[in-house]
Amino acid sequence: MIDKLKHRLHKNCYKARFEILEQLLHNQTLTRTQLLDKQRRDLAGIVAHAVAHTDYYRTKYGDLVADNANGPDVSRLPILRKDEVINHKEALLANTIDRNDLRTGYTGGSTGKPLAFYYDRHKMELMRAGMCRSYMWSGWRPGQKILNFWGAKQDLKGGGLRKRYGDFIAAEKIIGAYEYTEPQLNDWAKAITSYRPVLLQGYASVLAELASHVIEHKMPMPNTLQGVFSTAEVLYDRQRELIETAFACKVFNQYGSREIPNMACECRHGNYHIFTDMVYIESINAHDEDRLIVTSLTNRVMPFIRYAIGDSGKLKEGDCPCGSPFPMMEMGLCRSNDIIRTKTGKRIYPAYFIHLLDGLTGIRQYQFVQSELEKITLNIKAPIPLEPAILRSIERRIQKDIEQDMIVEINRVDEIKRTASGKHRFVISDIAAS
Ligand SMILES: [Zn+2]
Repeated sequence: MIDKLKHRLHKNCYKARFEILEQLLHNQTLTRTQLLDKQRRDLAGIVAHAVAHTDYYRTKYGDLVADNANGPDVSRLPILRKDEVINHKEALLANTIDRNDLRTGYTGGSTGKPLAFYYDRHKMELMRAGMCRSYMWSGWRPGQKILNFWGAKQDLKGGGLRKRYGDFIAAEKIIGAYEYTEPQLNDWAKAITSYRPVLLQGYASVLAELASHVIEHKMPMPNTLQGVFSTAEVLYDRQRELIETAFACKVFNQYGSREIPNMACECRHGNYHIFTDMVYIESINAHDEDRLIVTSLTNRVMPFIRYAIGDSGKLKEGDCPCGSPFPMMEMGLCRSNDIIRTKTGKRIYPAYFIHLLDGLTGIRQYQFVQSELEKITLNIKAPIPLEPAILRSIERRIQKDIEQDMIVEINRVDEIKRTASGKHRFVISDIAAS
């Protein structure tokens, strides 16, 4: 009864969000052809808007956007790189915006420099509505409880009464998960038991650590749980297994970023569906890598057109048994700065390193770091030091698999630092990509 009342209050408080959600739910009843037609129109619309209202695109696109009945040939438009967004923040801003409604957001800077971008209330509501649509794929319905384990400190600062009231009626709780200890993991597991949420949401690494704790201590989890939404970080198979075992429900991996939210989400059949009513995604093969290029179809404040987001992935043909009309894609397992390189030009993907420690027990966290071509450092957080023989075998395996004279340094550390936005990275290469 109280939950129903709260949901009604929430709906009144966030009218725009629920109106957008209705529209988004309608879109998923369209056929694929209808969706792709809509996407083409939206794409032409956003390009026209950007050229008409921003200095950056007007100058850059010039004659490339000639009048064409079929819309612009997007594949001829230049790619927008992150450093261009950083250097041309003002020129990318549309002159149609209401300056009073303008806020600044930041990406975590996992690829080096943090990137600042502008957004408005509408983008915020659209993002939340888009997330609600994804949540509904698990069986969750608006008004049902969600417990978030949030890794980004920047999102949890301040708040104020209005925000807290908003959280209360939204049936949503947020636990700051940017740093944690063993007793804290225990408290969080208990928080799930007492709050009895329908959904859990959080960073893959945090959810996986919490899941290990739940499994290790055989903690019973509430049967209200219908799904776990993993976000912000690459989700590895091992993490997925742990989470699904601990919480006895399906993991849905979301693909989105702060600057472009809601790009794709996994369905119950494990396929990623692209939200073609929000984004236009291309995959371009460069340097032996399938790089994703993303255009936001909804951001009229600071248009992101053909943006090199730094993730890898491919588009996938065919239909999914889940029946969703949204086309599918495959996510790559890495970002370009997660790739380890050697002096002979080999490139080793993070998946190799993630499986290297498979089967070893007693490791709480780890991170491979490459700061020189000839050297890899493995930092391990382990309550009990690993046997020297195990350390030597890790070193020898890396040398055998990667490069004979690669120097492997293994350190036992107290803590492995997260990025500014709280993400855990398993592999970091500080060597610039060529
Ligand atoms: Zn599907």
